[in-house]
Amino acid sequence: MNDLPGSTSGIPSSPVGASPRRPTRAAVVGWGGKSVRIGGGAPVVVQSMTNTDTTDAVATAIQVKELAMAGSELVRITVNTPEAAREVAAIREQLDRMNISVPLVGDFHYNGHKLLTQFPECAQALSKYRINPGNMGGGKKRDDNFAQMIEIACRYDKPVRIGVNWGSLDHELLARMMDENSAHPQPRDAQAVMRDALVVSAITNAQRAEELGLNPNAIVLSCKVSHVQDLITVYRDLSERCDYPLHLGLTEAGMGSKGIVASTAALSVLLQQGIGDTIRISLTPEPGGDRRREVVVAQEILQTMGLRAFTPMVVACPGCGRTSSTVFQELADSIQTYLREQMPVWKSRYPGVETMNVAVMGCVVNGPGESRHADIGISLPGTGEIPSAPVFVDGQRTVTLKGDGIAQEFQSIVEQYVERRYGAGHPNNYKGRV
Ligand code: SF4
Repeated sequence: MNDLPGSTSGIPSSPVGASPRRPTRAAVVGWGGKSVRIGGGAPVVVQSMTNTDTTDAVATAIQVKELAMAGSELVRITVNTPEAAREVAAIREQLDRMNISVPLVGDFHYNGHKLLTQFPECAQALSKYRINPGNMGGGKKRDDNFAQMIEIACRYDKPVRIGVNWGSLDHELLARMMDENSAHPQPRDAQAVMRDALVVSAITNAQRAEELGLNPNAIVLSCKVSHVQDLITVYRDLSERCDYPLHLGLTEAGMGSKGIVASTAALSVLLQQGIGDTIRISLTPEPGGDRRREVVVAQEILQTMGLRAFTPMVVACPGCGRTSSTVFQELADSIQTYLREQMPVWKSRYPGVETMNVAVMGCVVNGPGESRHADIGISLPGTGEIPSAPVFVDGQRTVTLKGDGIAQEFQSIVEQYVERRYGAGHPNNYKGRV
């Protein structure tokens, strides 16, 4: 076997990086003269969902604002009652007044056909509708309700997500497929039939929407389940059987590290294979927890995989017996928080800053080496080392910090570096070009 390009050892090296994105149609989600594209080769879009009561328009608008400021590129809100539907246009207006540029997606179950019909201002204010075909009733009623929602989407020129869910799968379809499976000479296990039913439900409903007149470029599909291996199997299957853009997410992922790990495990496998056009991380927040965490996790999955860049990344060592204090942990935490908080302003003022790497290291073992590899790094003193912290900028040792003000001084050095490297005067900054 020949060496791959770049191999110098005689041992063939594997290509690095995710597989090319699966070719899909592009769904355009518009609002106020702006738009975001899902699929069609566009970057994988981050989305999130509020957990406020939509009837509280102020609280909902504030949470949408927080999610958008954190980087959510679409925000979904619950539209479950006439009272909630009545507030949607007011929420949109409040966001526009606050200059919050993000599309609102309406999440409908059971009564979406009625709410969108009775509240045309809601239908108009939303940029996209989420339809769950598994809970729209049964038989002809289900077909009529689905048709009514699609007719409204066509009338207002809105894209839809046909979102099938393990917990609310179309009972009639599942029963029929189970019966067919039982009659088969070599029946599959029930779990396999359920996975298949999810995919069949999504695709047949999308085809029906097209037959009803919806533009095929206005359809996004999702098939959410709560187990990692099932999700991977379902989306691989779905990706092979259609060319609609796909919304990825592990439903009911759970709380804390379990939810993050399960979502990351499932989505990473699919994204690495080029599957997925928009993602949402369905974390259960701790009581009083910050809803923005799901946005941060989604961004970090995409950024650590090298698929997109949102905010400068901080490389920090885990610490060990060579660190006797929490100084480096505190510095890593404060600099990471600081960088993320700057991004709403920095992303327009300093183009490219989101790709910056910062290292905060705990001792001399890996500190100088890792700091040299970063754009800017600091190597703090470990136990028994001379109490000084060399700073490395673009691989070169520049200054050595000492004393109690290391954190503040390092932050100032980072600020100056950002201005110098990404500011208007830098040739890489398009605003600085003549
Ligand atoms: S860099 Fe030093 S403190 Fe950090 S984990 Fe490695 S040996 Fe421990």
